Amino acid sequence: MAGTLRYSALHVNRVERITPRMVRVTFGGEDLADFTSVSRDQHSKLFFSRRPGRAPVIPPMPADGDLTRWYQAYMAMPETDRPWMRAYTIRSHDPVRQEIDIDFVLHGHDGAPVGPGASWAAAAEPGDVVGMLSPQLSHYRTPGPHDWTLLAGDETALPAIGALIEALEPGERVVAYIEIEDAAEQQEFTTAGDVTLHWLHRNGVPAGHTPILADAVRAAVFPDGEVFAWVAGEAGAVRALRRHLAQERGIDKRSIAFTGYWRVKMSSDDADTPEDLADRDEALAGG
Ligand SMILES: Cc1cc2nc3c(=O)[nH]c(=O)nc-3n(C[C@H](O)[C@H](O)[C@H](O)COP(=O)(O)OP(=O)(O)OC[C@H]3O[C@@H](n4cnc5c(N)ncnc54)[C@H](O)[C@@H]3O)c2cc1C
Repeated sequence: MAGTLRYSALHVNRVERITPRMVRVTFGGEDLADFTSVSRDQHSKLFFSRRPGRAPVIPPMPADGDLTRWYQAYMAMPETDRPWMRAYTIRSHDPVRQEIDIDFVLHGHDGAPVGPGASWAAAAEPGDVVGMLSPQLSHYRTPGPHDWTLLAGDETALPAIGALIEALEPGERVVAYIEIEDAAEQQEFTTAGDVTLHWLHRNGVPAGHTPILADAVRAAVFPDGEVFAWVAGEAGAVRALRRHLAQERGIDKRSIAFTGYWRVKMSSDDADTPEDLADRDEALAGG
């Protein structure tokens, strides 16, 4: 987490079901008056109250910005009072209207969302309040010289992929591989860049249980030139992709930004596994 975090109360202004399994929530509130975007794939920690209809309350940030101390105070809260904390991407920021959009995946079974984040989003209404710690470090990093960018991820990475694509300058080249449920989940982006999108449909296979993303990238004929790769989504799929890019394609690890966004059969509340910790260390070390 970045050192200059501040807590904001976000009020739901609008809710839009942009695809059957994705809800866009537009948040406003006085606290967004001086919100600044720090990167193309900026994310935040959101806090959801366990008490329906109540705003979440978390310990104040220490004046010296010591996050470890703040996290200890947060974890020391009785579980019944401790708001759920989940990571979400800032899909877009409108400084004039002082609003941000966040796109929530409604993951779950048979149309019923699972998990506090997805459940909150499925029921969100204007006036609801969540908390936000922001800004958070980007996973995009500033790439060194490169000729094109590979983006690969599942629908949880789609908000970041959309924001990255829409921020492209003329002449910037992106090839994206995006795993989604089916054709109804495809989105359109407005961009000045040169973008090729490959939509990969699970067609009923549960998320996290298909290798289609890694398989598609494995089978791809890459454009010529130096690549910068950005990979996010289910942690196991991200790991497989990173291994392929580094070991089989020989891409310099420093040119691969990768982040596990979620883990099969594990909630965001579950402790890091040794693999998660190893991934984090490698990501912090720059590959
Ligand atoms: C930097 C970052 C940015 C992210 N940005 C976004 C974003 O913009 N939009 C977004 O929707 N998500 C995003 N995510 C992913 C999101 O934080 C996780 O999916 C999170 O687990 C959702 O919390 P929850 O309360 O809904 O489910 P949890 O309580 O964490 O998990 C409950 C169950 O659902 C499963 N699960 C969690 N996510 C999924 C999924 N996508 N598909 C299938 N099963 C799942 C878990 O394995 C677990 O069994 C981001 C994650 C990170 C780290």
